[in-house]
Amino acid sequence: MAKTRYIFVTGGVSSSLGKGIISASLAKLLQSRGFSVTIQKLDPYINVDPGTLNPYEHGECYVTEDGAETDLDLGHYERFLNVPTSQANNVTTGRIYQTVIEKERRGDYLGETVQVIPHITDEIKRNIQILGNKYDFDFVITEIGGTVGDIESLPYIEAVRQMKWEMPGKCLSVHLTLVPYLAAAGELKTKPTQHSVKTLLESGVQPDIIVCRTEKHLNQNIRNKIALFCNVESTSVIESIDARTIYEVPILMRDEKLDVEVLRKLNLSTDRQPDLGRWEEFVYRLKNPKEEVRIALVGKYVELKDAYKSIQESLVHAGASNECKVHVSTIHSESLNDENCMDKLKGFDGILVAPGFGHRGIEGKISAIRYARENGIPFFGICLGMQCAVVEFGRNVLGLEGAHSTEMDAETPYPVIDMMEEQKKITNKGGTMRLGVYTCRIIKGTRVSDIYQQDEVSERHRHRYEFNNFYLKDYEAAGMKAAGINPTQDLVEIMELVDHPWFIGVQFHPEYRSTVVSPHPLFVGFIGASIKHKQLRHMTVSH
Ligand code: GLN
Repeated sequence: MAKTRYIFVTGGVSSSLGKGIISASLAKLLQSRGFSVTIQKLDPYINVDPGTLNPYEHGECYVTEDGAETDLDLGHYERFLNVPTSQANNVTTGRIYQTVIEKERRGDYLGETVQVIPHITDEIKRNIQILGNKYDFDFVITEIGGTVGDIESLPYIEAVRQMKWEMPGKCLSVHLTLVPYLAAAGELKTKPTQHSVKTLLESGVQPDIIVCRTEKHLNQNIRNKIALFCNVESTSVIESIDARTIYEVPILMRDEKLDVEVLRKLNLSTDRQPDLGRWEEFVYRLKNPKEEVRIALVGKYVELKDAYKSIQESLVHAGASNECKVHVSTIHSESLNDENCMDKLKGFDGILVAPGFGHRGIEGKISAIRYARENGIPFFGICLGMQCAVVEFGRNVLGLEGAHSTEMDAETPYPVIDMMEEQKKITNKGGTMRLGVYTCRIIKGTRVSDIYQQDEVSERHRHRYEFNNFYLKDYEAAGMKAAGINPTQDLVEIMELVDHPWFIGVQFHPEYRSTVVSPHPLFVGFIGASIKHKQLRHMTVSH
């Protein structure tokens, strides 16, 4: 237990410098040296969890195996480390305060005045150490959201100061800053870094390592200057140059010896070298594709690129696995209808319909699916995408006019997607979604059973509505088959079309499970089918 080392990653100067990627890359390097590592994100906002955050503002909501709705950075952690995270890996200020206030109401503080220091900071420290104490990790890397100097992050920085003080030699502070290049002066500028470190020092934290995000290489002079002004060794000034893909960052960090610096400062052996063999192979395949395909990602949160982060990354993994460059175009479902689909979707080799909530843009998704179904274009529907495929098939193949999900139309004559009776009861009490991992039994002889090569899989969920089994016989008789079933609740998890080159809808979210070393088989299959579709299309055109 006492062996756990705590590494804190803070950011200064600007947001969006890639703290999550630096944390994940450092974790990857330590993991590849044989250490057990986990990463945690502390978010300074007051929401208790990110489940209710608007994807426009905050990007996708990531879901862990244990059903926690978390910040999307946890997705990066899992994709890099290939180790599942949990509720304990994402803590918000809202959750910290909620716990402290609950304790206060229970009388746990015995009448003391409850204050930011020590009560809030103690609760923060407890949350940082939960992972280390419970799972026996060699390293817990804690990424602190926001930028130093923000009012919101002050209690977190204070908790870091206290932990460094209380556990000498066991804690390390890594600070990520920006070193901007001023084109007019033709120079990289260190002043923002100096100021940022000063802000951190005002809170009593001396960074041990400074990672500098930059668009140009840092020469020795710049490193020395940062070292001198910020009280760190010049070997502790690490360059983080803009990379072509986030997946290159662990390799860049290895070359900059970030892991060596960390180990050296914590008095740990650097004898064992990091083994990034599989990682480098992935990056090589990613950068040297033999094929390319165009995928339409049909959704409604298209303005913000992080809204479908895990899906985008799963497509990258699947592309590399197929040695294929995947060009993804996000298409707003509101812009699609039965008349214009041909025009808007004709150049694509595969169509993916995204998850989502609410009525807006739903008819456009249904039109896109109809187009994919009728024209033999590989189709992958995820969660709401699968539900839309069921609605489309109901309306246009089974002739169930007005078929819908009761989420969109409570009065539909054909509720082909509906809420389970038990779920309705819970919902009335305020409990809501089916969240986290559930088992899915794969039906033999289906396309997905070829794809998974397994009889049972477990996949993550985040939804309220389900396929309505009342209609299952009619669907199956007409060629849309249940290919995966939740064995305990008898819920349809996967639907596929029999007479179609590749048409699969899944009620769960496979995108939360795809990682660099273990790309998700459904995404790999979808890209494989898209490549085939493209080749066939070209053959037909050239003959
Ligand atoms: N809105 C749908 C439901 O709640 C689908 C959710 C989703 O796509 N994640 O069932």
